[in-house]
Amino acid sequence: TAQHPLLEVSSIAGGYGDITVVRDVSFTASAGRITAILGRNGAGKTTSLRMVSGLNPISAGSIRLGGKDVGRLAPHARTAKGIAYVQEGKRIFRQRSVQENLMLGSYPLRIPRSQVMKKVEEAFDRFPALAKKRDVAAGLLSGGQQQMLAIAQALAPGPKVLMLDEPTTGLAPAIVGELFDLITRLRDEGLAVVLVEQAVDFCLSIADEAVVLNLGQVVYRGDAKSASTRGAVEATYMGVE
Ligand code: ATP
Repeated sequence: TAQHPLLEVSSIAGGYGDITVVRDVSFTASAGRITAILGRNGAGKTTSLRMVSGLNPISAGSIRLGGKDVGRLAPHARTAKGIAYVQEGKRIFRQRSVQENLMLGSYPLRIPRSQVMKKVEEAFDRFPALAKKRDVAAGLLSGGQQQMLAIAQALAPGPKVLMLDEPTTGLAPAIVGELFDLITRLRDEGLAVVLVEQAVDFCLSIADEAVVLNLGQVVYRGDAKSASTRGAVEATYMGVE
C-alpha cells in the first residue's frame, strides 16, 4: 500500500525577527515510524520543530497533517489536531503537582474536567512511577521522571505525531535506555515520532528515517540504518560537506 506520510513538512523557512535560521527544511513523519533529525548545534533543529508546532511562524513552505494544511494554525489548534511537541529541557511546571501537570496537557483540547481526568488516569496507567507521585511537586522528581512527565503531558491529548527535542540531555545512561524503550514502544503503537537527539548513535539505532540539517538546510535524507546515512552524518558533524 502506498503509505501517505502523516506529517509533511515542505521547504519551510523562518527564524527570529529578521534573522532567518531555517532556510529550506523538508521532512516527513509517518505512523509507526521514527524520523530522526540530526545536525550540529545551531543547525536549526529546534527552530524547525518550533515552526511545526506553531510556536514560530513560517515565512515560506507548508506543513500538512493528514493532507491538510496546518501551517498557519495557532499552537493549541495544532495540538488539538494531533501534533505534540516536547520542548528541550523538560518544560514542566515545577511548583505544580504531577497530576496538575498532566491535567494541563489536555488544556488545548478544551474538554470538560471529567474527560481531562480520564486522560490523567490513562497517563498514570502508562507511567506507574508517576502515579506514585501524583501529588508531588514536579520539580522534586528526578531528571528522568521529569522527562517522563513532560512526555506524558504531551501524550495526554492523544496525539498522532510526537516531536521530542533532545529528551535525553542530562540524563544518566540507564535512564536514557529507558527513555529509548518508551519511544520505541510509542512508535510500535502507531505514533509518528520525530526525534531530535545529541546521542546520534543511539538515535540512529532506533530511528527509521534520518534527516541531517546544516545551516538551516537539509543536507541528507535517508534510511536511518544505511551505511550512506552514517557517512553523511559523520561528514556533517565533522564539518565536511
Ligand atoms: P541546538 O542543538 O543548539 O539547539 P539547533 O539545531 O536546535 O541547535 P536552533 O536552536 O534551531 O538550532 O538554532 C539555530 C540558530 O538560531 C542558532 O544560530 C541560534 O543562535 C539561533 N536562535 C535560536 N533561538 C533564537 C532566538 N530566540 N533569537 C535569535 N536567534 C535564535
